[in-house]
Amino acid sequence: MDPKLESYLRATRVLRPERVKPRGHDLFRVALSRYFPGLIPPENLVLTHSTHRSCESVEIAGQRYVVYDTYMTDSLHILNSLWLINSSVAEYWCYALRVIAEKFLQRDVVSLGAYAALHYRLAATFADPRVSRINPPGIRGFFTATQETFVVLHELSHIYVQSNSAEAQAKIQSELEYIENCNLTYVAPQLLRRELTGGRKAALAVEMACDDLAANRAFDLMADDCAEGFEPLGIVLPILVGHYNLRWLAMLDGLVSGFLQADLSGVAEQSTVEMMIRSHKAHANSYLILANRNVALSDREVRDGSSAERYPGYQFNAKELVELHDTIIDQFYESPWTSVERIHAFLKLLQSEDWHADLLAMASRFDVLSHTTSEEDLAWIANSILDGHL
Ligand SMILES: [Zn+2]
Repeated sequence: MDPKLESYLRATRVLRPERVKPRGHDLFRVALSRYFPGLIPPENLVLTHSTHRSCESVEIAGQRYVVYDTYMTDSLHILNSLWLINSSVAEYWCYALRVIAEKFLQRDVVSLGAYAALHYRLAATFADPRVSRINPPGIRGFFTATQETFVVLHELSHIYVQSNSAEAQAKIQSELEYIENCNLTYVAPQLLRRELTGGRKAALAVEMACDDLAANRAFDLMADDCAEGFEPLGIVLPILVGHYNLRWLAMLDGLVSGFLQADLSGVAEQSTVEMMIRSHKAHANSYLILANRNVALSDREVRDGSSAERYPGYQFNAKELVELHDTIIDQFYESPWTSVERIHAFLKLLQSEDWHADLLAMASRFDVLSHTTSEEDLAWIANSILDGHL
């Protein structure tokens, strides 16, 4: 690894090179050479492992890198497990506590990191979201592989979009129009206008453009990677579920940021609106992927069946798609969404009440911290819990 890149990474996260899982790396390189040849050198696609479950592109000393953290793979694996067995809110809540504990610790907010970790530890005695405890069928591995490839393709798409090519600009323009015109029955238009002004709208359009580029390419790549006779819906489904896994993680990130900026509700509302528009587009795009990207197809056309008349050539069953859409939305708004709402309520409570005595009481239960709340001790207890030693 380039020493300058390494020192940047060491400065921004706690690296655990022994935990890097190189499993997806070959597929990432195929994705780069097939869809974005020459965008960055293959060796600039770098894997790390830390608590930053992220994929980011960075420019260091004139070189552009895409850094994929394989903790993302672990996280997607757990979220896929929870999704595939339609887990209860208790399991999502437990994992969400772990996620926010890590986010507080990353931002050096140690006492809150420890407090969230202690709640995670408590919640895990009732509902343990670790993969070892959950055993859905082998399909989980394919879900995770598809999603991690999507994540890397999304980041590569960002670099591509920044290149200012006419194609990229046209794509962003069409996403802006989509945002203007999308008719979300569950988001009031005035809320949409209030929350999505200028810069945020442009940023959302870029995210949606990258989502589309990545979803189409991930679909093709996984279709090639599958044995003969793959089921198209079997690839669209993990992409869509992955979309919700990523949005779930982003919502938690938004809540922690909002909390630290003392604007919890504002940030929550904003990220909800963005999440809904982005998800709406992800569903619309999955229709397009299945329609071979040659036809414009609206949600309504699929629902009322008129698509079958307009596009007599297309292969998939519209009713099946409506069911897919409804199942995913319904399932997302049950346990995963409820767990995000509970985290919102939990953080709100932390804003209004003194929780330090409670932190001390919870910590003393472990017999390692009896009368101290020094930052060092709290960091130790939080990390020991998250590492599974306590
Ligand atoms: Zn992005």
